[in-house]
Amino acid sequence: METNTAVMVRIGELWLKSEPVKKQFMTALMRNIRAALDAKDLAYQTEEYRGRVLIYGDAEKIAPEVARIFGIVDVSICTTCGNSPEEISSAAVTLAEKKLKAGMRFAVRARRQQVKGITSQELARIVADAVWEKIPDFVVDLDNPEYELFVEAREYGGIVYDDRIPGQGGLPLGTAGKAMLLLSAGIDSPVAAWLLMRRGVVLSGMFMDGGRWAGPATKNLALDNARILSTWSPGRNFPVWVVNMEPFFDAMSAACETHYTCIYCKRFMMRVADRLALKGKYDALASGENLGQVASQTIQNMGVITASVKTPILRPILTYDKEDTVAIARRIGTFHECPGDTGCRAVPKKPATRSDIDLIETQEAKLNLSDLIENAATTAELWIARDGNISQKIVDA
Ligand code: ATP
Ligand code: MG
Repeated sequence: METNTAVMVRIGELWLKSEPVKKQFMTALMRNIRAALDAKDLAYQTEEYRGRVLIYGDAEKIAPEVARIFGIVDVSICTTCGNSPEEISSAAVTLAEKKLKAGMRFAVRARRQQVKGITSQELARIVADAVWEKIPDFVVDLDNPEYELFVEAREYGGIVYDDRIPGQGGLPLGTAGKAMLLLSAGIDSPVAAWLLMRRGVVLSGMFMDGGRWAGPATKNLALDNARILSTWSPGRNFPVWVVNMEPFFDAMSAACETHYTCIYCKRFMMRVADRLALKGKYDALASGENLGQVASQTIQNMGVITASVKTPILRPILTYDKEDTVAIARRIGTFHECPGDTGCRAVPKKPATRSDIDLIETQEAKLNLSDLIENAATTAELWIARDGNISQKIVDA
């Protein structure tokens, strides 16, 4: 009897879409799977079915790579076989023999789709009986099993597995437009980035280098955040613009009422990001701003920051508690235990928690903003992160 080992990918939300959208999303998902496996030099073959993708190749190596791809519910290393109850039972027994011991609480979960002559319950019973013949004295416990065996009879074959590696959920990267993310050395913006990517948004980053106004660890940390984020979009570039913000800080600190420094600063960042976004087809800007976290992130101040550009600003962690953000940062690898000095020297002693658009515009009018924005954008360095590496791209003048 022929069996094979494969990686089975389960697709969730995607399956609820209309036919044309589903097709488009599946195309993106398959492209992302191939890019991830190609980036690791793995050989593979794929088969697409309703709600499932089977990938043949070195399953132990393929499964963890695929489990990082957005748009996937979970991933299992499975045995594929014929779809008759006999073939499925036989494959199930082989798998169960490795882990199921007498006395263990055991459950079979069966599914059947477009295979006639048998119900799911009957399939489960046949498999359980076959397992009992080899490993008697297990205890059937459907509510709280110690060992769970999944069997599926589908028109294209039988699938048997006993483990599920949780996926990331979300939607395939590349299905939800493109955004320019304000990427800092901190914890919040990389998490915001990851959440947007998980929802299908393709990102570029923009980091504002404060020069002598910023702690010396800042730039390397921000670039490292981009490098780590690139591992979540394998085989794809994650571009990061590094903008020199020193001239703005110099001009602003000399001319403007410093109480509102953080507001001018964030408005300037948004405008430079918006200016850089002109070069590509960006649908939005994005940030790691979080309601109430610091003075510049009150509702009133975020309103004034929003008014700096016409482009929509996405703020995926707006309502998160810091603990939730940190938990994600740790899981996705962007949490730095010892970040070093990333403090901002421009922050005033008592930053304003409430500002007024007229007042801010009056202060900004003291600066030659359009030149500052233009210079910042045109002198920006371009860095490219890809598959966990990052290097500067030298742009010809
Ligand atoms: P984070 O919020 O990411 O932990 P942070 O605490 O240093 O970084 P905040 O002052 O909370 O930054 O700024 C809010 C948001 O503004 C950040 O999440 C990020 O999107 C953006 N931002 C802050 N500093 C920079 C920077 N130097 N370059 C680009 N974007 C920045
Ligand atoms: Mg923050």
